[in-house]
Amino acid sequence: MNKITCDLCMDLIPLVRDGIASNESKKAVELHMKSCVACNAFYSGELPPTVNAEKAFQKFRRKVQFFSILLMMFGIFFGLGLTAGADMFYNSFIMPVIGILGYMIFRWKALYNLPILLLITHSAINILGFMKERENLDFASMLIWTIFYCIFAWIGVFIAGLLHYAFRKEE
Ligand SMILES: [Zn+2]
Repeated sequence: MNKITCDLCMDLIPLVRDGIASNESKKAVELHMKSCVACNAFYSGELPPTVNAEKAFQKFRRKVQFFSILLMMFGIFFGLGLTAGADMFYNSFIMPVIGILGYMIFRWKALYNLPILLLITHSAINILGFMKERENLDFASMLIWTIFYCIFAWIGVFIAGLLHYAFRKEE
């Protein structure tokens, strides 16, 4: 039996209550409710679906993630801006740190979130530099550097991931 989401479960509950749900829907709802407090409360009429606790929590989590992304971009922006023109030595240090932070926020999703963030931030820095100091816009080298930074950021993600895994195993 496939697991269903709370949204789907709450859609099906009125049908189950009215006795018009199919057997399969009924089974799925019963299975879901065995381990879901929110849907149980909804089933017994204690909770309207709009103030679903789980939904509120998901909303909160999305907000936290949004701010984390902003913070992250600020970090990359600051890190790259600070070391712009300096040799790549510093950036090579900053990127793994950003990778570790990325893993803490996104877990393994950081592997594809970070490259996107890096590319956006890197482009913004270049465009700002272009507007302020008439630097040349060199998209090819920008892309190459982004890939280069990515590799270092990924190293950070892998280090954090492995540490997290090792740490969890000990518990
Ligand atoms: Zn549920």
